[in-house]
Amino acid sequence: MAYRLFSSLRIPLTLSRGPNLSYASRCIATEARARKHVQVDVKDGIAVVRVNSPGEKVNVLSEETGNEIFGAFKEFLDMPEIKGAVLISTKPGCFIAGADIKMLQAAQTEEEMSKVSRNGQESLWEVEKCGKPIVAAINGVCVGGGLEVALACHYRIATTHKSTNMGQPEVMLGLLPAAGGTQRLPRLIGLPDALDLMLTGRNVKAQKAKRLGLVDRVVHLLGPGISSPEQRTMEYLEEVAVQAAKDLASGALSPKRDRSWGKMSDWKYKLTTDTSFLYNYIFGQAKKKVMKQTLGKYPAPLKIIEVTKTGMQKGQSAGYEAECKAFGELKMTSESQSLIGLFFAQTECKKNKFGKPKNPVKNVAVLGAGLMGAGIAEVGIQKAGHDVILKDTSSNAVGRGIDQISKNFAKRVKKRQMTGFERDQLMSHLTPQIDYRGFDKVDMVIEAVFEDLSVKHKVLKEIEQHISDNCVFASNTSALPIAKIAEASLRPEKVIGMHYFSPVDKMPLLEIITTDKTSNDTAAAAVSVGLQQGKTVIVVKDGPGFYTTRVLSPLMAEIVRLLQEGLNPKELDKMSRQFGFPVGFATLADEVGIDVAAHVAEDLSKAFGTRVAGSDVGLLKEMVAKGFTGRKAGKGIFIYSGQKSSREVNSDAADILKRFAIAPKKPHTTEDVQMRLVSRFVNEAVMCLQEEILRSPTDGDIGAVFGLGFPPFLGGPFRFLDIYGAGKLADKIQEYQATYGDHFQVAPMLLDYAKSGHKFYN
Ligand code: NAD
Repeated sequence: MAYRLFSSLRIPLTLSRGPNLSYASRCIATEARARKHVQVDVKDGIAVVRVNSPGEKVNVLSEETGNEIFGAFKEFLDMPEIKGAVLISTKPGCFIAGADIKMLQAAQTEEEMSKVSRNGQESLWEVEKCGKPIVAAINGVCVGGGLEVALACHYRIATTHKSTNMGQPEVMLGLLPAAGGTQRLPRLIGLPDALDLMLTGRNVKAQKAKRLGLVDRVVHLLGPGISSPEQRTMEYLEEVAVQAAKDLASGALSPKRDRSWGKMSDWKYKLTTDTSFLYNYIFGQAKKKVMKQTLGKYPAPLKIIEVTKTGMQKGQSAGYEAECKAFGELKMTSESQSLIGLFFAQTECKKNKFGKPKNPVKNVAVLGAGLMGAGIAEVGIQKAGHDVILKDTSSNAVGRGIDQISKNFAKRVKKRQMTGFERDQLMSHLTPQIDYRGFDKVDMVIEAVFEDLSVKHKVLKEIEQHISDNCVFASNTSALPIAKIAEASLRPEKVIGMHYFSPVDKMPLLEIITTDKTSNDTAAAAVSVGLQQGKTVIVVKDGPGFYTTRVLSPLMAEIVRLLQEGLNPKELDKMSRQFGFPVGFATLADEVGIDVAAHVAEDLSKAFGTRVAGSDVGLLKEMVAKGFTGRKAGKGIFIYSGQKSSREVNSDAADILKRFAIAPKKPHTTEDVQMRLVSRFVNEAVMCLQEEILRSPTDGDIGAVFGLGFPPFLGGPFRFLDIYGAGKLADKIQEYQATYGDHFQVAPMLLDYAKSGHKFYN
């Protein structure tokens, strides 16, 4: 966006003034040529420092950008005629989106990382202590290092633009705010809110930021005018910020920070500083919550608590020292490396490697208004901005789907995540129907009808009589090979798999499946739709179960096997959660559905034989016959009524398990149970890479973490192998093979890695 300058000291103007130039003006003239990311303008004695990294989607705080911003502050604020400064971004939708992660990756040792932190601390310390007011004018993303810069400024103004989000998400990378953030944030907004922001990594919008005391003032969006609303907001924001800087300099404005601890209400101040009992209580509670949620698997939140506490107990300089030391330590942990690896991988999965589709998708039809179909329609209208037809075979069935979407939107309205007007607008893009009207205008059909090949074939043949030649046909099947579905098609190059995960509006992953016949353009269209829907997309090759359902299959067999060996489902849940999975594995079987598990086990055993064996599918079938299909039926391995914490094992299912009992060959130690389960999952993931179902370990890790809940701190099956050791896992599998049988079989590629010592990631 070309941002209109409205300064009284624009560069051409200053140049034309010849020898009478002020020092500030001369600096603008020379520095404009030298600086790449920053442009400085002087307006009524206020230096307006505008950040916009050329050719980048977002501004990040690299060494170069930091030097330019802080250099500009220093240079201009040293001049007597400059009374203060404004830091603003002219990058649409972005103030500063954090520190440059590549810069962090370049630091190889703990000491180098600590140095990065110390440099940041020192630069921001200078900003804070510069003696003249600096106002951060925030429009767009202001997170991580970006927020730390804003915190070091003396006054913060934020717009209500939808892109304006503030937060400290470092914890998600296994790190902590390391440019003084752990020290400034609690002093500004109070300990409880600061810990909440730093430990959850969540973002807040401008109004909430104002309530927290994170920003001093909110600037509302302006309506449409001559220029775009965002541009007008930016101009207005800058005017307000310049005025605020002038007022701060003259003393006409003084932010209400009458205590050195920042803008806290009295009770918060007392709670966090005056009474050591309460203050210790807050830290204690925070730690307890972290331990409950993470079981101590993530070092970063614990360090955040420790460092913040040091700063509050022993003073700021001790806090700064602890912060940079902890930053170095954290960066060296395998947890942080896994999380940073996932961050890069996810960024990759947000790109469309197939290019732009020739025919951009605008209108979509979803077939089947069940759980999945309704979810797909919902993200279509809400995230992608598509016009969506939702078709089922009866009005009742369509009504059920519409109900699902309406209820989800109603929850959002209640939580103020959308307005009633926005909800109505979105719903107007959804057309429920039971016939094929308008199908000739749709660019893509996504089917989510029953998981039955003959039903899928019937639907595909019927559809092809109503759609245009350009229209893509996507199937949301969980496990049926796409090539088999495409056998019924007149145009198999237009057929593709789009495997969504339940609940579709919440699960981030979309697994796209291409067959040998799927055209590049069809893949490009499917990926672009997934990205528009806000999904992290992996593209895999066709085959039974593709990637995600396939790796789940041996895991599910081992879950059932352990239950047959008499392991208590609650114990099994506990052990799998202790490993780091978000849902216990017995519960997972109920969530997936015992019927679905039985179906998939049967189908995949035809393709993969012993590799998915080890348990008795007859047991699952018997449970299905009794109606114990899992959570959806209220009964599966567990009974679903009342409190989650007091969930009971279904005694009738336990009786069935007893009838299928297998004598355990070894005691069920936690480590053995965990490794039996995880090794089967990871081994199958390697088979998928070997057979080129997966294009890369990255896709395998993303699919496992974002689709199946593989623990993020382990980074996914391939990152896990690099950390744990391919050789060690291969040995374990061989040991299990000797004990339990041939359903444990090391994948040849895993053996290769074990022998060569190679890693999946450099
Ligand atoms: P569902 O039973 O909730 O819904 C299926 C819907 O399809 C029903 O409303 C049914 O009336 C409708 N339908 C059947 N024949 C139709 C036709 N000819 N035209 C239009 N509508 C028709 O099932 P679901 O859980 O939403 O699953 C749908 C598909 O998604 C299946 O292939 C399933 O394997 C796959 N899937 C399910 C999940 C999951 O967790 N449930 C996850 C991923 C993929």
